Amino acid sequence: MNILISGASVAGPALAYWLRHHGFTPTVVERAPQVRAGGYAVDFRGEALDVLDRMGLLEQVKALDTHMGDAAMVDRDGNQYATLPAVIFAGDLEVLKGDLTHLLYEATRHGVEYIFGDSIATLEQDADGVHVTFERGRPRRFDLVVGADGLHSRTRSLAFGPEEQFVRHLGIYTAIFSLPNYLGLRNTGQLYSVPGRAANIFSARDNTEARAALHFASGPLAYDRYDDEQHKRIVAEQFAGQGWQIPRLLKEMSTAEDFFFDANAQIEMGRWSSGRVALLGDAGYCSAPTSGRGTSQALIGAYILAGELAVADGGHAAAFEAYEREMRGYVTEHQQVGREGAERFFMGTPTQEVLDMIAANAPEVARAQVIKLRDYAPGLAVK
Ligand SMILES: Cc1cc2nc3c(=O)[nH]c(=O)nc-3n(C[C@H](O)[C@H](O)[C@H](O)COP(=O)(O)OP(=O)(O)OC[C@H]3O[C@@H](n4cnc5c(N)ncnc54)[C@H](O)[C@@H]3O)c2cc1C
Repeated sequence: MNILISGASVAGPALAYWLRHHGFTPTVVERAPQVRAGGYAVDFRGEALDVLDRMGLLEQVKALDTHMGDAAMVDRDGNQYATLPAVIFAGDLEVLKGDLTHLLYEATRHGVEYIFGDSIATLEQDADGVHVTFERGRPRRFDLVVGADGLHSRTRSLAFGPEEQFVRHLGIYTAIFSLPNYLGLRNTGQLYSVPGRAANIFSARDNTEARAALHFASGPLAYDRYDDEQHKRIVAEQFAGQGWQIPRLLKEMSTAEDFFFDANAQIEMGRWSSGRVALLGDAGYCSAPTSGRGTSQALIGAYILAGELAVADGGHAAAFEAYEREMRGYVTEHQQVGREGAERFFMGTPTQEVLDMIAANAPEVARAQVIKLRDYAPGLAVK
């Protein structure tokens, strides 16, 4: 069975791994010319670690651990007024996203066909397959297509309709970029927040670099999604006149090359499949960065989707239904976490009372929802 996967970030390569494991033939198409090196940190929680273990990758991922310690919450003069426990923002294990996608690609590239620098252009389903045209390559037929192409999924637009129907904006925009570790941070970060604005700097790559994030509250903005210079102007306007390290961060941002900018948004859909096309990870059920659960969802979703296809012996209708049944509650809970995270953002500087409560319940706050993983891959179950 030939299965086309759109997107080679976290969900796509993880799905390719499991499909191949179960005897299917995956092809992955990625719009970027190579695996993206984008530098922000993502974390794993709960059963996502089991999935990595079942893939035989847990030790390699642990070797990429950022080893982030607790971070300082600072006021506009840089004075620390509270401590944020690392488990809240770094989960059970934290790595740079670019390191993770590189690892997943390396773990799958032998035996999986990867096509870089291309994108699905059109999809046409019939009784026994999907006719796919590409922006650059020749048209091909696949038995199934899976969209693992993120928040702004092309696959979703083609098979389900425009993004506006499914997107829930959380009212926050985020910019992230790399910069020199000029504060000399050692496995830690500083966080600054006032109502409607927040910023942080974390050390990265064994303290040889740093990553900064700037978040601001706003209703939906109109801009060109591919115009970094326009995004930088928007961010600079939003942060004009702010204290702490913001003037320096804006200066660093103006020349940053690995700049990321997007809305914090969730994808809410009544169904994650339509005929022979299914959605995986952020494409189907983005929980937003404020949930800190997107990477875990992408990995677990890939494991379950491939597993259910194997159980159903390729019967996609039954498999897609079972995938949704297994995942739906888990995703719903995480989306709730994402919305609560956004609400905290709007409160601005947290009171000591709130911080004490968070610190006292840190493992609980950081916990992923529990999902019981079926053993689709006999012999690989964690002992
Ligand atoms: C700022 C930020 C911080 C985050 N922090 C955390 C965190 O701490 N913990 C956590 O668990 N998660 C975090 N996340 C979320 C996490 O990054 C995502 O949930 C996760 O990467 C989802 O993986 P994915 O593979 O589904 O989608 P994505 O990582 O979005 O990947 C989509 C892929 O599809 C490709 N693509 C897009 N369009 C096309 C097309 N037309 N054709 C072919 N390919 C295409 C893209 O280039 C990309 O490679 C964060 C996200 C952001 C933005």
